[in-house]
Amino acid sequence: MSILRFKALDEASNREPIMVELPSVKTSEYFGQNVFNRKKMQEYLSKEAYDNVVAAIDRGSKVDRRIANQIASGMKSWAISRGASHYTHWFQPLNGATAEKHEAFFEPAEDGGVIENFNGELLVQQEPDASSFPSGGIRNTFEARGYTAWDPSSPAFVIGKTLCIPTIFVSYTGEALDFKTPLLRSLNAIDKAATEVCQYFDKNVTKVNVNLGWEQEYFLVDESLYNARPDISLTGRTLMGHPSAKDQQLEDNYFGSIPERVAQFMREVEIESLKLGIPLKTRHNEVAPNQFECAPVFEEANLAVDHNQLLMDLMAKIARKHHFRVLFHEKPYKGVNGSGKHNNWSMMTSTKKNLLSPGRTPKSNFQFLTFLVNTVKAVHDNAELIRASIASYGNEHRLGANEAPPAIMSVFIGEKLTQMLDEIEKKVSTKKMTPDEKAELKLDIGKIPEILLDNTDRNRTSPFAFTGNRFEFRAVGSSDNCAGAMIALNTSMAKQLKQFKTDVDELIRKKVKKDEAILKVLRRYIVDSKSVRFEGNGYGQEWIDEAARRGLANITETTEALKAFLSKKSIELFSSCHVLSERELEARYEIGLEIFEKKVQIESRVLGDLAVNHIVPTAIKYQNILIENVLGLKQILSNNEFGVVAGKQLQTIKNISENITAIKDKVSSMIEERKKANAHENMAEKARLYSLNVKPYLEDIRTHIDRLELIIDDEIWPLPKYRELLFIR
Ligand code: ADP
Ligand code: MG
Repeated sequence: MSILRFKALDEASNREPIMVELPSVKTSEYFGQNVFNRKKMQEYLSKEAYDNVVAAIDRGSKVDRRIANQIASGMKSWAISRGASHYTHWFQPLNGATAEKHEAFFEPAEDGGVIENFNGELLVQQEPDASSFPSGGIRNTFEARGYTAWDPSSPAFVIGKTLCIPTIFVSYTGEALDFKTPLLRSLNAIDKAATEVCQYFDKNVTKVNVNLGWEQEYFLVDESLYNARPDISLTGRTLMGHPSAKDQQLEDNYFGSIPERVAQFMREVEIESLKLGIPLKTRHNEVAPNQFECAPVFEEANLAVDHNQLLMDLMAKIARKHHFRVLFHEKPYKGVNGSGKHNNWSMMTSTKKNLLSPGRTPKSNFQFLTFLVNTVKAVHDNAELIRASIASYGNEHRLGANEAPPAIMSVFIGEKLTQMLDEIEKKVSTKKMTPDEKAELKLDIGKIPEILLDNTDRNRTSPFAFTGNRFEFRAVGSSDNCAGAMIALNTSMAKQLKQFKTDVDELIRKKVKKDEAILKVLRRYIVDSKSVRFEGNGYGQEWIDEAARRGLANITETTEALKAFLSKKSIELFSSCHVLSERELEARYEIGLEIFEKKVQIESRVLGDLAVNHIVPTAIKYQNILIENVLGLKQILSNNEFGVVAGKQLQTIKNISENITAIKDKVSSMIEERKKANAHENMAEKARLYSLNVKPYLEDIRTHIDRLELIIDDEIWPLPKYRELLFIR
């Protein structure tokens, strides 16, 4: 066995769990202890400053400079009491990571002492030297200033010795360079539109918040094995590897017990998350070996997004301490389930009514129905944009590949609600309704809570499923920033609700009674959006055929999917809701392409290197052993005997040669294709060529490597195998 592989396996199998002590106090006593939340603000701020921040959080009002100084000073005192010595603006640039630039609270003063260096100005705005973050050409390099600005709606927190201040990240001219800016704008848009629609049902509603509860899937791999696999450590996934004889076919991992090493890691992640106010609640094994999931209780969407980003950072750090690496890649192992993120999405009024949950009164059921139908219509009308919002190279391996959810956007609402919508379609006539018809429908609508009680047939194959009191968007990639999907969904919904209001008001103007007007518009939407509703198996070929007949898009290529950002419809949608301008959309499209192209390029280089410098030499070594063996046999055996005994070996020698030749040829061709693609300045063309002409080689070359893995002596195979990577001892 190669020294590297032997050492890695030896280390991995001899690791002891690193025990984590449970805090001696109740969870409630340390929950949020590292967060500058309202309770801490009350303690550290004057009443005036506190009221000012709360107004900024609840109503989006501006914090004035004088008050900002007070807030900064209070925040600093609190942070220092938590052991912080530095502060940073914490933001979410478009490369998917989070960024921070640490500044010391103290600056050496001339007299040799220290002066405190954190004030309102530094809290509110900063100019990080951030020219290397992707901007899709919005900032060219000599105008490389980007600004971060405080987002008071997400509380500051302390990690280690650093106070982190959640901020947006915009260009000098105000264009969004991050996820948070458009997310906040989309939340604003949906708030406005939904609050107006709520007025039909309840005049007391003054605000509508979006709630998001994410579920995060991930893989763990031992640190030594990770280091011994350059493909995993450089690209986040295996670019080669024959399937393990046993992986998930017994389905024994899902309900299996969690290995102690992993349990200790999870415990530490939970404790640290709770301290940061992330309400982590569930954890369990997932379908694949070494795959796990965690989920918090849902929160207001902006906070939930920050918390997901924070959790991913935290997990990566804590994993290292436990000698693991955490993989958020959507498909780290071929033939084994990939990882996703489920975004559970709902809307909540200022009166604490979940708009996607039926209520006790017929009126609130009517309201529920209104929001349900509008959601279905929003997804129907913007399916391609919503698909684009989760398009990435990693996610390409899941969506529409061997594994669902498919790349077709469809909505599952369950049998009973389907019947309900069918009833409405049948009973609401386009003419004036009779009192009897109205009474009957009211009765039906009143029964919704009961029918939902037995709405248990939860369809796990739908990318967008109604699950009782929320929609669950399951096609999000595990490494994605949740905000991408949320921006598309919120904005689609905001626009849809605005349209709904316009349509209903128009009928009311024509003297149709309010309830009837609402029903008539809903009926129209039910009919218009029918094609996006699908209750069957989303994984089957039948659905792909059926979806094509229905005219639904099924876009599997990232480079194609991203185009939806630039469609006339999207530009109109985003600008009418003031979420993203055309220029900002163009930037996002460019960045999406660039990240895609770079990832394929990196994988292609890594695979080329591994194939030529690791695999081929090993294959030759083994082939030489066989050749020596055959030559020896020839010397000691008669011709007849030799023919019988050496036949298989000769075949293997030939077989190895064929694979070596194929690998060498294909690596050369792949490099040629890269060169051709690189020659293009235009990003769309370059990415298209990478997708079309470079990407296929990755699969092709690996096939030959995986064949060699089966032939060559295990003793000399240089890289840890799937069976070794996939099990934690
Ligand atoms: P499952 O795995 O069965 O889908 P989980 O309990 O693992 O369910 O995850 C459900 C997620 O949905 C949790 O994050 C939970 O907080 C969230 N959730 C529950 N109700 C709502 C709601 N009304 N709006 C948004 N998210 C919700
Ligand atoms: Mg789920």
